[in-house]
This record gives sequence, structure tokens and C-alpha cells, in this order.
Amino acid sequence: MARIGFLGLGNMGGPMARNLLKAGHSLKVFDLSAAAVEKATSAGATAAAKPADAARDVDVIVTMLPAGAHVRSVYLGDDGLIATAAKGTLMIDCSTIDVATAREVIAAATAAGHGMIDAPVSGGVGGAEAGTLTFMVGGADEAFERAKPFLEAMGKNIVHAGGAGNGQAAKICNNMLLGISMIGTCEAFALAEKLGLDHQKLFDISAKASGQCWSLTTYCPVPGPVPTSPANRDYQPGFAVSMMLKDLRLAQEAAAKAGASTPLGAEAAALYEAYENAGHGGADFSGIIRMLRGNAE
Ligand code: NAD
Repeated sequence: MARIGFLGLGNMGGPMARNLLKAGHSLKVFDLSAAAVEKATSAGATAAAKPADAARDVDVIVTMLPAGAHVRSVYLGDDGLIATAAKGTLMIDCSTIDVATAREVIAAATAAGHGMIDAPVSGGVGGAEAGTLTFMVGGADEAFERAKPFLEAMGKNIVHAGGAGNGQAAKICNNMLLGISMIGTCEAFALAEKLGLDHQKLFDISAKASGQCWSLTTYCPVPGPVPTSPANRDYQPGFAVSMMLKDLRLAQEAAAKAGASTPLGAEAAALYEAYENAGHGGADFSGIIRMLRGNAE
């Protein structure tokens, strides 16, 4: 069993750390929130006094932090994880961050003699708790193979998407497509309402026609056709608007840097930003149908 340093014990990282403990690994944890640390130590982890302490005497480091700036601040610098960890430590960053930061931090870890992957997830808090997350992984083959048993303790689908940063690339490309397809699905239902076409009729037809997509058949944004979708519980998330907006912004940042043309991705980001600014950052992202109908309140 491995000795693991784990940083970032929030909504996702907390249950992921517990699943690593359940798999029999020993964990040294760090978080800025004392309550989050307390929850992990009561499940069997040891608390580290500062980030660097979680990197000492461990075989593996896992991070699950909010954004690229946090990842930089814990990995880089004289007192960072890369400088502190013993040569050859395996580093797994599961945070959703910008592709450029992921590539820069992995290059720094590799230059220092460590193995490192970016491994953002999908599956939400429910998937983190159940240990059924999907991991989209970028990095060298050797680091991926070493990381697999640890990812398998926290998730079900583990996909190697290519070199450093490609896990983040896969995540933001998928979520940009999801944001666009959700808005398209919402617009189709809003138009159907104006035209006197019943929700269920549109669903039955489009679910078997060329408009078929996940936003329609698994996550339908109106109540009724898919009983498990958030539309049936007043758009409680699910996947919150603020999370979707974060990923759409990361996609726009990456598109600008790479010179890719993503006009619908830009429009989706602008629409989700307007919906968040109207006070709905915590609603499920399918709730944007309310704004598209013109009655966001
Ligand atoms: P969260 O805000 O609940 O948790 C983040 C944790 O990191 C907090 O406990 C915070 O105290 C801690 N933290 C911040 N800076 C730190 C530092 N310097 N050192 C140590 N700890 C620090 O966020 P979350 O929902 O757990 O999300 C984590 C990541 O997972 C994000 O990148 C998010 O985009 C991604 N993600 C979230 C979901 C979801 O449904 N929540 C789904 C997929 C991916």
C-alpha cells in the first residue's frame, strides 16, 4: 500500500481522499479549511501542517484544487511540492485548470525527476463519493501506468488522452460541447412552447431523430420526459451554472491561445455569464431555459 500526500479536501477531494483510505493507502492531508482536514483525519488520515509537509515521505501526491493559480502556488517555488518531494514521486493533479498551467507544472515536475499527470474528472460529487468518477488523463505512458491503480480506487473510467495537458484539453472540449448543446436543446423547447408543440411530443420525435443528444435524452431541461433530470426538481444541481461557466471560460482561454475559432463556445460563455449575473450561479446549468424564455426569476 502506498503513502499518499493529498491536498484539497473540498466537495470532490474529501470523498476522493476517503476512497483512497478505504483502498488501504495511508494519507497525509492538507487543506486551508480546518473543518475539511478534520473530516479526513476522522476517517483515518494524518494532518500535514503545510503543503510541503504533505510532500515529504510519500510515494504519491494527489491534488484537487479550485483553479490554475492554486495548482501553481502549491507545486512551484522553493517550498512547493516539486522542490520538496523525493525524486521519482508520482504527482496526480485532478483539478480542472487551464491547459497552459497544466503543461507548465508537468514540465517542471518532469525536469525535477518526478512523474506527473493531469487527471481532471467528470461525474460530480456523487461520482466522487461512489468512486465512479471518469478520469481524463494527460501525461507520459509510464506516469499513467503508475497512476492507474490510484485512479481506479477513485473512479471507474480511466482514459489516457495523450501527452501533458491533454486531460484538461479533453475536459474543456467536452464541456464546451455540452454547454452549447444544452443551450440548443433549451432553445428548441422554448420555441416549441411558443409554437404550441407539447414537450413530450418534441422529446419523443427528437430523441429518435437527428436532434438527438445527451442534453435532450439524459438531462432533458424541461420536467417530464426524463424523470431524473434536474428540471424535475426546480433545477437543483446537478452541475451548477458557475461550474459550467468556469469550464466555458477555460475553453475560451485555450481557444484564444491556440488560435481556434469557437464562436458558439464564446456565445455559450456569454449566455451562462448573463445567467450567473442574474443570481443563478448555484442553479443547475439546464435552468438556463428560464432565461432563454425571458423569465429567469
Ligand atoms: P471546493 O471548493 O469544494 O474544494 C477545493 C478545496 O481546495 C477547498 O477545501 C479549499 O480549502 C482547498 N484549497 C484551496 N487552496 C488550497 C491550497 N493552497 N492548499 C490546500 N487546499 C486548498 O471545490 P470542488 O468542488 O472540490 O472542486 C475541485 C476541483 O474539481 C475544481 O477544479 C473543480 O472545477 C473540479 N470539479 C468539480 C466538480 C464538482 O461537481 N464539484 C466536478 C468536476 C470537476
